[in-house]
Amino acid sequence: MHTTASDGTLSPLALLTGAAAAGLTVVSVTDHDTVAGLAEARRAAAPLGLRLINGIEITAVENERDVHILGYFIDAGNQALVAFLERQREDRVRRVREMAARLRTLGFAIDEDALIESAAVTSGRSIGRPQIATALVAAGHARDRSDAFARLLGNGSPAFVPRQGCSPEQVIGLIAGAGGLASLAHPGLTRVDALVPRLIVAGLAALEARHSDHDAKTERHYRDLAARHGLAVSGGSDFHGDSGYRVASLGVVSLPPEDLAALEARLR
Ligand code: AMP
Ligand code: MN
Repeated sequence: MHTTASDGTLSPLALLTGAAAAGLTVVSVTDHDTVAGLAEARRAAAPLGLRLINGIEITAVENERDVHILGYFIDAGNQALVAFLERQREDRVRRVREMAARLRTLGFAIDEDALIESAAVTSGRSIGRPQIATALVAAGHARDRSDAFARLLGNGSPAFVPRQGCSPEQVIGLIAGAGGLASLAHPGLTRVDALVPRLIVAGLAALEARHSDHDAKTERHYRDLAARHGLAVSGGSDFHGDSGYRVASLGVVSLPPEDLAALEARLR
């Protein structure tokens, strides 16, 4: 699940409070390219009776397409990981600047300074297209975030700027180096099944078979693919807060305990 440390709308405390109220018992905060939300989540978890698993969702790049890699059970203080994430966030700021410049040229100016300030290095916050989309809506240039993505921000759209990122293999190596388990995020959306054998060589532990945007057939497909390759499965809501995006999934889309146990067994 995501918090205000990346593109979620709830603080870590508010998120975990909602998760506990929804009946969850084990949760993971997996913000994009940052572990900045984990300390507050850790403080919030025990009093709410929740077990928190450290998490992250790192954006890798393969053939100019984003491939999101989840890392669970990571050591959030791992030096190599922390340094890598700082570079990822710097590149996100560069990209936001470039996209804002393009938008201005196209006649859709946004207040990017406030956005970029919110992602100061010390904050650990990561920014990207979702926050640009919100700014476009606020400036009256788009009806809603989906409209902003469809007309301006999506891959190949006029304001789209490609990312400069690492390969999924490098990201998987970093997660493993930080003591974590890497899982291919929402493969039903990313559609990179052909990559899986290569990712396994790099140390992939799991496929995110269960996800808010996966129907039963898609989940079955990825459970089967994981089983064929001897991988575990991970899963969750990918909840981003109360903005309406996957809002109904909190506490509804979750991972069966036996899947979590099988995933966790790979730590030993
Ligand atoms: P970025 O990492 O800055 O390129 O932004 C990608 C993120 O934007 C994804 O992780 C999604 O959460 C979000 N996103 C992608 N497509 C859409 C869309 N059509 N509407 C709303 N959010 C989207
Ligand atoms: Mn994702």
